[in-house]
Amino acid sequence: MHPVLIILSGFISVFSMDLRAAHPVCEANQISKFVIATGRNDSAGDDECEKSNGELSSEIEEAITSLGKSNQQVAELFDLTPLDLLPDGLKFYLFSHALGTFASYSWEGDIHLGFVPPWNGTGPNASVYTHELGHYLTFQKNERLPSVLKALSAGALFQETFADFVALAATGRIIGQEDDLPSCLSNARRIMRFQSYDYPMGYFDNYFSNRRIKACCESLKTKGKLNSRTRGICGDNFMKKTIPPMDRSPLVVPEEKELRKFGSLISKIDPHQYGIPLNSFFYALSRRTGHSMKDLLVPAIRDGENKSIRLKCEMQKDGVTYFEGEKAVPSFAQMVKSAREQMRTESDRRVFDELWKSHAMDRGIPAYDNESLEIALRSFFQDFLNYLDPPEPVLQCKSTLTGASGDGASDTGFTDPSCSVVCRR
Ligand SMILES: [Zn+2]
Repeated sequence: MHPVLIILSGFISVFSMDLRAAHPVCEANQISKFVIATGRNDSAGDDECEKSNGELSSEIEEAITSLGKSNQQVAELFDLTPLDLLPDGLKFYLFSHALGTFASYSWEGDIHLGFVPPWNGTGPNASVYTHELGHYLTFQKNERLPSVLKALSAGALFQETFADFVALAATGRIIGQEDDLPSCLSNARRIMRFQSYDYPMGYFDNYFSNRRIKACCESLKTKGKLNSRTRGICGDNFMKKTIPPMDRSPLVVPEEKELRKFGSLISKIDPHQYGIPLNSFFYALSRRTGHSMKDLLVPAIRDGENKSIRLKCEMQKDGVTYFEGEKAVPSFAQMVKSAREQMRTESDRRVFDELWKSHAMDRGIPAYDNESLEIALRSFFQDFLNYLDPPEPVLQCKSTLTGASGDGASDTGFTDPSCSVVCRR
């Protein structure tokens, strides 16, 4: 349905009509649907936005208004009005779940936030909501947003780092504090001024957050301070999980082959944790120089097409080149580095360099480009498969990338030794 609407260039007005049909409070806050759902993957339930004027409960009206405020804050990061940011309005689901806010996600243009039942009318966690909105924006075909967002967002490292950047720049935190959420839980993931890529491997792996939440739960249990909210998060299943001791060895930056597919990193890196030092760098830089976080990174993302790595790729079989082409791969590392151009004074540039070093940015940021290169390699291979007529469904090639951080081979499953995809910088 989308492509047709785009060809007619009428998709904005078509969806705006949806929004116009909504309750005025929904319309004023760019929410096209507001449902209190029963379960995590359940989208059934009454749409509050379909109620006629005046019928919303005050709690729901307040919740929608608080989402509207977050939409406004995120729109400002991109110098847009909330309506330009969300022309079709956003579908929002609040669902009951033992993990509450920690179970939130966004999926195909909807945002789903968890709450521990019963819902007591407290506004959705603004930091978690804006994180999910950060994801949502990268899925959109909104021409007013930076064009490279779409390409970059195929990578899990970029996705989570960018979503946290949006939350942090809009709300100052990545998990908001809530009345009945103990600070050891709302601080389970927190950006401070000094987090660095010099931290050990264990800081970046999939166990780190769980280890921290478990320690928090254990201390709440010992002190007899579990409430109805934390009892779900600190449930038996979670507490019985064995978590290995912290890996103290230095961070090994994941290479292309470990950064294969969105949502399923082959490496044991947790993409949420990986983004923390990068966001910490921008947070510290903003605090020390007075530049807003937005001004430090958003212009560079807007100019992302000019910050790319050019690849020449070939597909060969039995020594014959069957397919060749070029790919421009957006380089998030270059975008991050270019924040230095925003530094107008010698002393600000000194601060930038100092923080760049103390956050070990040179060590951490190549991973983002490794991720983009891996995605480019796969997409080149896909272009080749699409080009074959009839398609050759079983053909698998060994793919190599030369001249990147090191030469890496990427195994696409079954490999035909006579076939290879080679990309060069
Ligand atoms: Zn996320």
